[in-house]
Amino acid sequence: MRNRTSIIAGNWKMNLALGEAIELVKGIHFGLSFPGEVEVIVAPTFLCLQQVAEQLKDSYIVVAAQNLHFEDQGVFTGECSGKFIKEAGADYVIIGHSERRQYFFETDEIINKKIKAAFRNRLFPIVCIGETLDEREAGKVEVVIERQVKESFSGLSSPEISALIIAYEPVWAIGTGKTASPQQVEEVHQLIRSLLSSKFGEQAATYTRILYGGSVKPENSRELLSLPNVDGALVGGASLNVSDFIEIIKNAK
Ligand code: PEP
Repeated sequence: MRNRTSIIAGNWKMNLALGEAIELVKGIHFGLSFPGEVEVIVAPTFLCLQQVAEQLKDSYIVVAAQNLHFEDQGVFTGECSGKFIKEAGADYVIIGHSERRQYFFETDEIINKKIKAAFRNRLFPIVCIGETLDEREAGKVEVVIERQVKESFSGLSSPEISALIIAYEPVWAIGTGKTASPQQVEEVHQLIRSLLSSKFGEQAATYTRILYGGSVKPENSRELLSLPNVDGALVGGASLNVSDFIEIIKNAK
């Protein structure tokens, strides 16, 4: 029996100003009287974190940041630390999204430091991994996923591995409308779980939630979310629309 609560997380990216962010969460909260056994997370920009968290304080919806710096404080112009994110009311933080890897040159080593900074500040990391189209076409999916798991999670304890959330996001499926097939998704999720099991023990691997991300929509969510090793979804575009996001949450039950 699966003993992992599903998560549906909405990554709003750099899309909503404060007024729009508040409208969206009001709509989700109002439209979803009770999410059932699904954890619902929204990830606004840094600037909206505190007010979105305030708006949601009496709800079951929780807040994630989209990034953090690996130090807690200091001379890092333009950055934001886990300490401040926690103070703003977030409980989760997305780390290593492919857009951060691609446009901001984040490496597995940096991602590893960020995961440690998240734990230090009592934030649950949602760590994104996944291959590019070139890597898939070259037959390198296993090698890439193994490297990302090994290097990003280096030095973490088994309880930390159980507490973090992994989002498998094939880069070629993000924002492109191309979804990985259920078979491709289940294969990689199984691979991730077996890598976790061999590196951190079977018990840790059993509890780690592994989300799928990449053009998840109401229409494809039911099938993807019913796969045995899929514990929810990280949703970009469709999380900006109240009814689409709610339908995806309902399909996770
Ligand atoms: C994402 O940004 O994490 C994502 C999965 O985006 P989309 O759902 O739009 O593909």
